[in-house]
Amino acid sequence: EAEELETDDSELQSRPPVVTVMGHVDHGKTKLLDAIRHTDVVAGESGGITQHIGAYQVRVAHEGDSRAITFIDTPGHEAFTAMRARGAKVTDIAILVVAADDGVMPQTVEAINHAQSANVPIVVAVNKVDKPDSNPDKIRAQLTEYNLVAEEYGGDVMFVDVSAKERMNIDKLLEAVLLTADAELELKANPDSDARGVAIEANLDKGRGSVVTALVERGTLRVGDAMVAGQAYGRVRAMFDEHGKSVTEAGPARPVQVLGLTSVPRAGDSFLIAPDDRTARQIADKRAAAERAAQLAKRRKRISLEDFDEALK
Ligand code: GDP
Repeated sequence: EAEELETDDSELQSRPPVVTVMGHVDHGKTKLLDAIRHTDVVAGESGGITQHIGAYQVRVAHEGDSRAITFIDTPGHEAFTAMRARGAKVTDIAILVVAADDGVMPQTVEAINHAQSANVPIVVAVNKVDKPDSNPDKIRAQLTEYNLVAEEYGGDVMFVDVSAKERMNIDKLLEAVLLTADAELELKANPDSDARGVAIEANLDKGRGSVVTALVERGTLRVGDAMVAGQAYGRVRAMFDEHGKSVTEAGPARPVQVLGLTSVPRAGDSFLIAPDDRTARQIADKRAAAERAAQLAKRRKRISLEDFDEALK
């Protein structure tokens, strides 16, 4: 990213890939996200990933080491498109789920188009291979028409046959994600700066007030930070991870629930850290004023066009 060029290369550290699961309805996106959640090697101790906060991170055994992968926990490309519309590019890799007993369907094609136009590498999960009528080879053949050529067909796209239901080959799929990230992307971020990132989910909770799931893109987010997310602002009062565990800081590619903002931002809003409360408020107020002005201008324009149409009658 252009922004990263400003920082000294030596300050950059590798960060986990952020993955979105896409594909046609009923092809198994939700089930797959569920199966992946269960693979987390450290989850066992703290009772597993119990909280649906909009994103989660799993640790995967990889070449004698353990590496993290972050998943956006909203299946489908609506979230992906909504975030892109706000200019947020949170996804590094897309897992395209295609049911092996069905085949390439309209939303499969849409997902491919979204990922390809955003320049996001695709890993294909050929799902439901436990079904007797599944035909994984047919999926591979079909997808060549969309420039997704499997490695075994001489291409460079990783296809993994999985069963989300039987939780089969999920480890191979995660391995393929890491291999694709290493081969095609250089995922680095500087953790030693103020956090920047995206609000991927936000809602008003009766007891807890504004609850925002923030995905840190660079820097480190800390309890006590003065945050601005879209037009919302406030001091970070507490943070929780996907295990419901309280955390005091969150580095690059880590999703956390943030409590303490005075209002609710929109999904896809970017966030930043201000030097103090007053500045945070000023930034938020300025943005709100700019949006009101833009809306007013739009309404004026619409009204004058209607007047014009009326006059022509
Ligand atoms: P989504 O709409 O893409 O999120 O699809 P779901 O995850 O909701 O799955 C749709 C249906 O397919 C559900 O009834 C799942 O139980 C079923 N399903 C998902 N994955 C598998 C699989 O690997 N094998 C089988 N046999 N069924 C699956």
